[in-house]
Amino acid sequence: MTVSKYMSLKDRLELYSIPIPESGCQIWIGACFSQGYGVLQYKGKNLKAHRVSYQEHVGLIPDGKHVCHHCDIKSCINPKHLFIGSHQDNMRDREKKNLGGNSKKTHCKNGHEFIEENIIYEKGITKLKRRCWTCHRNRQRNNDKRPRKTNVRWNIDKKKKLYIVKPKKYINES
Ligand SMILES: [Zn+2]
Ligand SMILES: [Zn+2]
Repeated sequence: MTVSKYMSLKDRLELYSIPIPESGCQIWIGACFSQGYGVLQYKGKNLKAHRVSYQEHVGLIPDGKHVCHHCDIKSCINPKHLFIGSHQDNMRDREKKNLGGNSKKTHCKNGHEFIEENIIYEKGITKLKRRCWTCHRNRQRNNDKRPRKTNVRWNIDKKKKLYIVKPKKYINES
């Protein structure tokens, strides 16, 4: 599929994201900033995809305000999961939801760091859970000696019900 630069932003948001029915998230599968937010290139600028989605579907973002996630999935661009807040609101919201336990872990049980590049999402009952990409890949290598495509961006592992959502590349925010 080719992307025309004349395509509307809404169409591009749709083309570069996939819905996760269980959580309602719309996960960005284009390039991501290294902190995990989707990147949309527009008129030579790198824009955050969730902010573009908010502006396209909801309205203008007041100056200096953040667009925060109810679902805590940074690459989610579903406008219904987005709200306007300050950085402090974002922090308070996280505390309120008590994202203790696993979401505070910085490393997996095998010691791989939970940075965005190393996270895949597994469907939970109410939200997506974080899983370690390195461990998942190692398990797959052990289970299956056949050569694999290494550029798999996402797929749905039906047996394990694991959503593997990996952006194709990461961009450092300038
Ligand atoms: Zn979401
Ligand atoms: Zn790991």
